[in-house]
Amino acid sequence: MKKIIILALALCLTAVGAEAKRWRAKHVVVIGLDGWGAYSVPRAHDIPNIRWLMEHGSYSLTERAVLPSASAINWASMFNGAPTEMHGYMKWNSQRPDIPSMIENERQKFPSVFSIMREQYPEAEMGCLVEWPGVLHVIDTLALNYWDRAEDYEQDPDHMTRLAERYILDKKPTLAAFCYVALDHEGHVSGHDTPQYYDKLAFLDKQVGRILQAIRDAGMWDDTVILMTADHGGKDNGHGGASIEEMQIPFVIWGRGIRQQGEISDVIMQYDTAATIAEVFRLRRPQAWRGQPIWSVFSRK
Ligand SMILES: [Zn+2]
Repeated sequence: MKKIIILALALCLTAVGAEAKRWRAKHVVVIGLDGWGAYSVPRAHDIPNIRWLMEHGSYSLTERAVLPSASAINWASMFNGAPTEMHGYMKWNSQRPDIPSMIENERQKFPSVFSIMREQYPEAEMGCLVEWPGVLHVIDTLALNYWDRAEDYEQDPDHMTRLAERYILDKKPTLAAFCYVALDHEGHVSGHDTPQYYDKLAFLDKQVGRILQAIRDAGMWDDTVILMTADHGGKDNGHGGASIEEMQIPFVIWGRGIRQQGEISDVIMQYDTAATIAEVFRLRRPQAWRGQPIWSVFSRK
């Protein structure tokens, strides 16, 4: 009996391993910058790492956030593959849906890219690090192996980067998301499109550079997809409205199986990010999702 169980287990592991070979890449790292308006990219100084990813991968500066253009709503759409009306998070700081989600998984959450990965690949290593804890309320954290907060980003600006470096080196995650809020904070304090805003973006580019280096040091470089995006942009000292400065966000993707084509003309919505990540791992997407993979970024295979 024991032998049969071991044999069955071995077959099962082999099957999972074989299926995982279909993946377009073994790792996806999402770097989300809260309050990163697409308007800022052409005007930004000193963002060499972001520009490198743009030039060597595919990008759009016309991805659109969902309304209202505020945080919890858009982080929910980014990871849950669906618009506001479906996941139900409607306020900037919603900790639970304001109207019931149209569908829930077994953990009473709208299905996220993390939860469908967990269901289809139970052994996947997944983590999410945040500076603003609100992100954790809108994704299915119980599907994660690891999450942590670095809320002291004003006193310790690279706290989250250190956590990210350690996580990458220790665990070589299958799917990791690092969500920085410092840029949004600068937008509220100093204003969007100000010298202080661009200085903060330059600082965050250095954090991106450290994450890229950690991916190299972990030996993951040739088998990773990096996706950079934002929840919303901003204007003057805030966001939440429907101006193009608040609604347009960058979408940057680079890595294994991603075409080097620079700017692309596809129409991209906030909820396409989850579907595009799901396609890297060739996951079955929930019927409830409205996001679509951005097919043009993938090399044919
Ligand atoms: Zn935000």
